[in-house]
Amino acid sequence: MEFSILANSFNKMESTRKRLELTQFLVELFEKTPHQVIAKIVYLLQGKLRPDFEGIELGVAEKLAIRAISKSSGITIKRIEEEYRKEGELGHAASVILEQKTQTTFLVEDITVERVYETLFKIAKLEGTRSQDMKIKYISSLLNDANPLEASYILKILLGSLRLGIAENTVMDALAIAFSGNKDNRKVLEHAYNVSSDLGKVAETIATKSLKGIEKFEIILFNPIRPMLADRVKSEEEAIEKMGNNFAAEYKLDGERVQLHIEGDKVVLFSRSLENISSYYPDIIEKIPKAIQAENVILEAEAVAINENTGAFLPFQELMHRRRKYKIEKAVTQYPITVNFFDILYCNGKSCLELNYKDRREKLEKITKENEFAKHIPMTIVKNDNEIKDFFENSINAGSEGLMLKMLDKSYQAGSRGSNWLKLKREYQNELGDSLDLVVIGGFFGKGRRTGSYGTLLLATYDEDTDTFTSICKVGTGFSDENLDQLYQILNPKVTIKKNPRIDSEMGADVWFEPELVIEVVASEITLSPIHKAALDKIKKDAGLALRFPKFTGKIRIEKAVEDASTNEEIITLYKGQKKVAHDKNLI
Ligand code: AMP
Repeated sequence: MEFSILANSFNKMESTRKRLELTQFLVELFEKTPHQVIAKIVYLLQGKLRPDFEGIELGVAEKLAIRAISKSSGITIKRIEEEYRKEGELGHAASVILEQKTQTTFLVEDITVERVYETLFKIAKLEGTRSQDMKIKYISSLLNDANPLEASYILKILLGSLRLGIAENTVMDALAIAFSGNKDNRKVLEHAYNVSSDLGKVAETIATKSLKGIEKFEIILFNPIRPMLADRVKSEEEAIEKMGNNFAAEYKLDGERVQLHIEGDKVVLFSRSLENISSYYPDIIEKIPKAIQAENVILEAEAVAINENTGAFLPFQELMHRRRKYKIEKAVTQYPITVNFFDILYCNGKSCLELNYKDRREKLEKITKENEFAKHIPMTIVKNDNEIKDFFENSINAGSEGLMLKMLDKSYQAGSRGSNWLKLKREYQNELGDSLDLVVIGGFFGKGRRTGSYGTLLLATYDEDTDTFTSICKVGTGFSDENLDQLYQILNPKVTIKKNPRIDSEMGADVWFEPELVIEVVASEITLSPIHKAALDKIKKDAGLALRFPKFTGKIRIEKAVEDASTNEEIITLYKGQKKVAHDKNLI
């Protein structure tokens, strides 16, 4: 397939943010795409080469790309940098430069999607001392044969700056229309995506095997399943109202969610945001297979740091010490953990997702043997609010965050948040009722004690409809010196020259960050705001929602993807909830 078809499509898509238009452009593109390249096209659309969980990063630095442009065009580095400064985006600058140049040269051959993809793939895999030179060679050879528009998109993909703003749901809408003629079939595609986390594979399956093939799509061991999420409740009474009077309560441990894929001695671990985190937990890899009595299995557990002497649970923050590439063995002994199983998703070649909670728990207990290191998360069946309160107390005393409440007769809903699982946390007793997970989008330089760090951060919620991050508050309290240091280390490499187009904020900032980090805050209230963009126009025309007295809780949620941050829909529910409480108390 000619790469120019894709470059032209990208160009059209960049000109709009409207979902319907984007869907239409995608449908047209998919209809022109031969089946054997559709997976590659779907990855490239998202600026990727493979699904996220494979961790393949292009990682080409701007400096290197500039050298490659210079090599292929013969134009000096200085001149390219000048153009870059003027244009603000390197892909675009390159196309301007090459535009002037193509008038004097001939294109050698048409480039294909396959060739671009293979070359990018080789670049991503290069390592070692000579890799820089080889990268320049590969990039310049592509640029040699590319027209200016193609060159600009090749560079954008390489630099990670291709941002078409296409949500996964939009891709699935377009696939459903292109290959089944009916958008409603997205539901079937969603299921396939939820169990494989691989949109390219989903696209290839529907293209080659039609709707029938995608209906039969099965879990693939070592491909992560998108996790089931819980709604929040504020009180035991609210839980009873929602769940009836017979459900399971489990401790909600404050650790890292780990999805374990195991076959024999092979173990792969995925985080909640589907990143491969196996290297941080060599102890799990070594010890867990011995505790499993099945040929293959996919399990979910909470890995929790413990006090070596007493065995007591320690807060999530302790696990951060394991986030290192080197000397992980030392961290493993310094920060010991236990693995606390709470679900089973696959066993002996068969999906367990359709089984109800009770049957899954039974199977889990049968297949995993408890020992010093591997445990079953404490669980009890509760029937009334006193029993919940009792178990809640026990769980808090044991060092956990509260309870997860789960319907007994419900299946596992991969990739969705719903009321079949509810979370009841201690923090809910604060005024707002819950902590929020917000995306860091901007920063303000600190003064006094905070010089050399970001003293205040600008935070955003996630808007699922538009796939954007909408500003909701500035936060400047709750930071310890250690937090400030840590945040500076994490955020500094994320500083951008221009605000990422997915950020929606009228409020300015000293610096903008790539929206990649989630932190936890509490607040006293949600109020209407003329400045902030969260839930704009949803409650009142021309007003968004903002947090009053926000405070950082000290938790940097590195395990959360930004798309898992608190959504505007959740904020609206909380806003309405606080209104209701005030109303019930006759305050308004
Ligand atoms: P939250 O991050 O506040 O939305 O809470 C959901 C998280 O709680 C999950 O992603 C897990 O990491 C964690 N968790 C702790 N205990 C449990 C449990 N018993 N069942 C499910 N998730 C749990």
